[in-house]
Amino acid sequence: MGVPLFDLTRQYNSLREEILKEIDSVLSDGHVILGPKVEEFENELAKYLGTNYAVGVANGSDALYLAVQALGIEKGDKVITTTYSFFATASCITRNGAIPVFVDIDPETYNLDLNAVEKILKTEKISAIIPVHLFGQSVDFNNLLLLKEKFNVKIIEDCAQSIGSESKIAEKVLKTGNLAEISTISFFPTKNLGAYGDAGAVITNDEVLYKKVKILRQHGASTKYYHETVGINSRLDAVHAAILKIKLKYLDFWIERRIEIAKTYQRFFEKFGINIQYPKVEEKGYRYHVFHQYVVQFDDEKTRDKVESHLKEKGIGTAIYYPKSLHLQKCFEEYGYKEGDFPIAEKASKTTLALPIFPELRDDEIEYVCREIKNALEL
Ligand SMILES: *Cc1c(COP(=O)(O)O)cnc(C)c1O
Repeated sequence: MGVPLFDLTRQYNSLREEILKEIDSVLSDGHVILGPKVEEFENELAKYLGTNYAVGVANGSDALYLAVQALGIEKGDKVITTTYSFFATASCITRNGAIPVFVDIDPETYNLDLNAVEKILKTEKISAIIPVHLFGQSVDFNNLLLLKEKFNVKIIEDCAQSIGSESKIAEKVLKTGNLAEISTISFFPTKNLGAYGDAGAVITNDEVLYKKVKILRQHGASTKYYHETVGINSRLDAVHAAILKIKLKYLDFWIERRIEIAKTYQRFFEKFGINIQYPKVEEKGYRYHVFHQYVVQFDDEKTRDKVESHLKEKGIGTAIYYPKSLHLQKCFEEYGYKEGDFPIAEKASKTTLALPIFPELRDDEIEYVCREIKNALEL
């Protein structure tokens, strides 16, 4: 038996008719970039998140780039972010000429270490913070908002992995994407809400920021051929919007299944006596984790690599998120970071492994993965 890390075809089989009908409607209508289908999806997305506005763009990386630009962050400004994320979380800073200030992560959640953030805020002038709700687990926004107020910094939420997850702010449960002045989402095919190609969105409650992003995604022109500012070409295609609108209806159902899968992994780890670090599923009364990825951690690199190659031999797909922290990337050399600067993230790169998770994953497949992890650990 093989178990893929991710499989888009199982989901398509269950949605085929509905999706083909929508694609046909877009192609027959002939309006293929932005237009009414994109607006419909933007409205549905904003409604789902509880926000005033959503702007469809070409991908999640552009969404971040445009959000940073819309906030007026420019050359020389410093922006704090986590060193343990996908590349786009940091490149949106440097693409705008600003300087990334990396921080280490919490060893349990893999999210931004807020104590480290506070230390930097006390000593350096920082323009903004980009927290990432990594693997689908929401960042502790209560404490982040306290820091925001105290140090007067802007926040851009990177929700590429977290659509549907929630945070509790002053007794109010809010969706991630609705916690900061501006937020971004990716609809990359493997994300919890995925298109069949690249797509993304910028989310905000602020009318001024909304208008800015709408202009920036179209070359900085609100009237065609009259450019108020220099933007980029980053528009959402109607086909993707139409498909995403269908899929959005199922998102909560899929998320519930992801949480169920996380519980099932936990059950088998306990049953088989597998002693590793895994994300514990807790009842908090709100959905703090949507399990975009299911990441476990081993004692050391040797063990992780042993399990990884054993699972590969057994036809089980795994991945390492992320094998190299952002502060150690060659392209960021100029910022002067070095090995050892962020030991928790560096250790996570060497000892974590992402296991198969997607809503259509079956319980017998999860059992097989766990059994093979146990076999690998006993080798
Ligand atoms: C996927 C991802 C992005 C980028 O999204 P794309 O749509 O692939 O450009 C940004 N940040 C994080 C954390 C991501 O996981």
